[in-house]
Amino acid sequence: MTINLNSSNVGTRENRLGSITGYIGSLSDLASQSECGTLRGCARCFSQSSSCLSMCALSELNRIRNVAVIHHGPAGCSVVASLQEYLTKQLAAKRGVTTNSVYIGTDMNERDTIFGSTEKLRDIVLQVNERYHPEAIFVSSSCATGIIGEDIDSVVDDLKADIDVPVIAVHCEGFKSRIWATGFDIADHAVLSGIVKPPKQKRNTINFKNFYESARDEIIEIFSHFDLEPIFLYCNSSIEELEHISEAAATTCICGTLGNYLGNGLEEKYGVPYIHSINPLGVQGFEAWLREIGRVTDRSEVIENYIQEQRAIYIPQIDEIKRELQGLKAVIGMGPGYTFEVTRVLNELGIEVVWALAWHYDKKYEDGQVPPAMKYLLDNQIDFEASVSDQQNYEVINILNKYKPDLFLSRHPGSTVWASKQGIPAVSVQDEFMIFGYKHTLEFAKTLLDTIRNRSFEDNLAKRVKLPYTEWWYQQNIASFMESIK
Ligand code: SF4
Repeated sequence: MTINLNSSNVGTRENRLGSITGYIGSLSDLASQSECGTLRGCARCFSQSSSCLSMCALSELNRIRNVAVIHHGPAGCSVVASLQEYLTKQLAAKRGVTTNSVYIGTDMNERDTIFGSTEKLRDIVLQVNERYHPEAIFVSSSCATGIIGEDIDSVVDDLKADIDVPVIAVHCEGFKSRIWATGFDIADHAVLSGIVKPPKQKRNTINFKNFYESARDEIIEIFSHFDLEPIFLYCNSSIEELEHISEAAATTCICGTLGNYLGNGLEEKYGVPYIHSINPLGVQGFEAWLREIGRVTDRSEVIENYIQEQRAIYIPQIDEIKRELQGLKAVIGMGPGYTFEVTRVLNELGIEVVWALAWHYDKKYEDGQVPPAMKYLLDNQIDFEASVSDQQNYEVINILNKYKPDLFLSRHPGSTVWASKQGIPAVSVQDEFMIFGYKHTLEFAKTLLDTIRNRSFEDNLAKRVKLPYTEWWYQQNIASFMESIK
């Protein structure tokens, strides 16, 4: 798929990747419908609220050091600014760096939505530049500016003559996609089109797209064995680092949903190889990922030696815990990248996934291929009941009540809490590196064991909480509340 960096706008995942937010069936059926082109997303007759793609896009950009994000819209759109303010500062402090990034809302009012407010926006951008001296300015649209046709691109183009740092238009109209992960692509598109420079030399660096770089030191240590330096994106990235990511030996990511636009974009535009493998979660994932890095960067021998050394340390320990986890049943609900990755890891540990919910589903990635994590499951005949549901917790509740699994795993505490209230042990896989490599796979296995052994929290909570759902809802087949989108 060609990525058009001459346009400031990026198409939605629905249009580019055929992504959907509604489906019920099985993984194999989902795959075969995708392959023969008959897959259609389903619409719900009732939906709980979901997230806006602007939160994903602008929080990614705001974590870059010393930038300004200007969110042109009503005050409510920039509600995440307060969260971003302390999150970016805390993440920088944890790393031992400082950031002066700011997140500014333009507070459009009723008059602005009738008469437009491009002049006001222009003044705000100039004032932000003068007051904060950012190293780049991202100017974002919103639903309101999209509906009235506010010409943000022209404002940005005019300002480029007056401001000597990159000023980049970011199209974040929330209504254009039901899939919040479209926001990751929007952020990548802004970085690729406005910050990254063509390569001048090759470097022994590897671009590593992640969320919060919690395993930063450990990954630097691992790559030091291979004479590679990871550059973590975008949390705490500097503009100078981003300018040079086209010079890296390869690009990889902790989650395909998060990283595939940037990875494929860098590969397509600058020839930086993207690691098209399953992600480094669990033993299979870690080894396949390392071997692919070895192949692409011509370091296969040293990487194979590292794998064998580490296997000798960790595999016996992982096998010991596996014996205790055999036969457990789990339900999981996560973004599609993690849903299919974590299903594979649970399978490795002997746990059967009886139902997996993906918060959305991408038929293919930017390279036109089926997401590697899903392909792995299909190639290995790992099938299970599956649904696509943009964090519709009322559906999660219904499924959990039907299956009564030993475990529920989600990346979002807003979902795990509902399982806990039903008395089902729940694990929040919030830290993206929680299952990274051998060491964290072992820790993850131990966490699962602890969770099923100590059930007092869920048992006590379930005894004391009255859930708002009636017996009627638990008896419903949730498939009957969906219909195909024509
Ligand atoms: S951009 Fe639209 S969907 Fe997103 S927060 Fe603003 S009004 Fe809501």
